[in-house]
Amino acid sequence: MRPWLAAFPDRLGAVERWLLPPACLLCADPAGSGSDDPLICPLCRSRWRRLPHPQCQRCGQPIDGDTDCRICAEWPRGFAGVASAVWLDPSARRAVHALKYDGWWRVAESLAAVMMDLLPLGAGASLVPIPLGAARRRSRGYNQSQAMAEALGRRRGVPVDPCLERTRDTQSQTSLTPEERAANLKAAFSAPGRVPARVVLVDDVFTTGATLRSAAEVLLAAGADQVSAVTFGRAELPLAAVGRTI
Ligand SMILES: [Zn+2]
Ligand SMILES: [Zn+2]
Repeated sequence: MRPWLAAFPDRLGAVERWLLPPACLLCADPAGSGSDDPLICPLCRSRWRRLPHPQCQRCGQPIDGDTDCRICAEWPRGFAGVASAVWLDPSARRAVHALKYDGWWRVAESLAAVMMDLLPLGAGASLVPIPLGAARRRSRGYNQSQAMAEALGRRRGVPVDPCLERTRDTQSQTSLTPEERAANLKAAFSAPGRVPARVVLVDDVFTTGATLRSAAEVLLAAGADQVSAVTFGRAELPLAAVGRTI
């Protein structure tokens, strides 16, 4: 049994989520059950908005062709090829919420299904989930990023290597400025063992990229040659935060 599955019996709420819901988790339409995805109906999935092109070649941010990308300007060499599947609009946000906070771990499969064409994978790459701190991992019963990496890995025949560890529980990132996020994440990760040469990080949401950048720095310092990343959702940032027109 996978380690993240083995923890489920500790937690009654998570055990209950082994059952399937009677209706789509997002729209409550009972017709949703019985489709290929028992948790999120085809209509709700079809309403998720794919990220448009052109995108920054490095961080995957949809961007005007005449604009320098500000998001990834300071990223370390060796960290490139980040891609997200859909905008984090209210529907996509609720799907992430169901996975992270409501115990619906099978939603990882629904999210992985729309990430299939993102993977910047070549020979020898491994999927590395963004880890949770021990306390949050215990209370949640599983790590949602690991569940997503397992789902993607199964679908694509790519190994999952949970080589990254969270050294301390960081404060929730959601209410922090970009500067505060960077400080909050400083020394948040470690890679105590051997790391793959080619890494594809897996996370649920790309907001400012600070979490992925911090993880990439640790993996590159530990010997990875190349780190890229995939996320299900991407927060829509105000244009001023994305770039400056030249
Ligand atoms: Zn639905
Ligand atoms: Zn960029």
